[in-house]
Amino acid sequence: MAFEVGPIRPPSEAASLLVRITRNCPWNKCRFCSLYKGKEFSVRTQEEIFQDIDTIRRFVEAFQEENKDPSTERSRLNALKQEAVAKNEEQAYHMARNWYVSGMKSVFIQDANSLVMKTSDLIDILNYLRDSFPRIERVTSYARSHTIARISDEDLQSMAVAGLNRIHIGMETACDDVLEMIDKGVDKATHIRAGQKVKKTDIELSEYYMPGLGGMEFAQKSAWETADALNQINPDYIRIRTLVVHPHSKLFEDYQACIFTRTNDVAMVQELMWMVERLEGITSTLKSDHIINLLPEVEGTFPRDKERMLAVMQWFLDLPQEEQLLFRIGRRSGVMNLREDMMDEKRIRRVQKTIRDNKITLENVDQFTDAMIQRYI
Ligand code: SF4
Repeated sequence: MAFEVGPIRPPSEAASLLVRITRNCPWNKCRFCSLYKGKEFSVRTQEEIFQDIDTIRRFVEAFQEENKDPSTERSRLNALKQEAVAKNEEQAYHMARNWYVSGMKSVFIQDANSLVMKTSDLIDILNYLRDSFPRIERVTSYARSHTIARISDEDLQSMAVAGLNRIHIGMETACDDVLEMIDKGVDKATHIRAGQKVKKTDIELSEYYMPGLGGMEFAQKSAWETADALNQINPDYIRIRTLVVHPHSKLFEDYQACIFTRTNDVAMVQELMWMVERLEGITSTLKSDHIINLLPEVEGTFPRDKERMLAVMQWFLDLPQEEQLLFRIGRRSGVMNLREDMMDEKRIRRVQKTIRDNKITLENVDQFTDAMIQRYI
């Protein structure tokens, strides 16, 4: 049985060990998502999963042994790597090495909806993981609201006791019109119920919001409905994932058929601002921890940082169009990230050259930034 790794993890889990317990997505219908397109969902067997954990443990123990004798470390590491290649375990070797070097603090359970697994089976895996690596501090997973809403409070809490520390839910929006349009398979009430259930346990909750998903028609409604749901949930984290219309997604087909209207960077900042303005009575931390978000400075904890986050968005919206274009190209080309970068002559000259070389204008900037952003997904 080969060691397996799924295709994604949240950026906040970059240093985590990835343990794949299911393959792909049991829903696989969201129109904006092409990640698991054409791939069938399956639950991996306990034997397969335990074997992957054992493989990682074997490598980790070997690294720990090497550390005891630094004089031979390099040659022993090379021998271990060659052995891994010979046994077709190279991927596991690199995963274990990166995890070991990063301090082995966290584990991310893959793929898209691990909680769909039978609770007792999931708890067995969590226990095996914790027994194998007693010093891990955090075990996290993606899950769908629809699935969580059907799990009993007792089962959820027993997952927490077994060591599941954080759940990432792709809420995307809590606007029912948009949820239906994108075929998310869940409504606002279910999003709220699922979020509140997680909050009743000792599991941390991370909810994702996707500006742009409602197109032009539903931008404000999507922002306001989502804020209303988040106010009722008070998740530990709100994470922003700006919409990217992937050319292989059904949403792209909708766009081409003029069923879906696309917004651009400027409209998505306005939408995010509408959402943040309406967030009240919560203590969540908002994170812009993805390269596709235009303004990484929109981060902070409510209520303390709300005005500062709004000020960042207002700064961008108040810029003349030419300067918005400059910042957009600067950010998308990796030259600019912060407001202060717009005062940096060297960066400005670099971005201006990109604009000149590519003949970017106010008329074609949306196509250009779309193309640039595709590189990140
Ligand atoms: S639930 Fe998540 S992984 Fe599955 S189709 Fe929707 S967005 Fe994609």
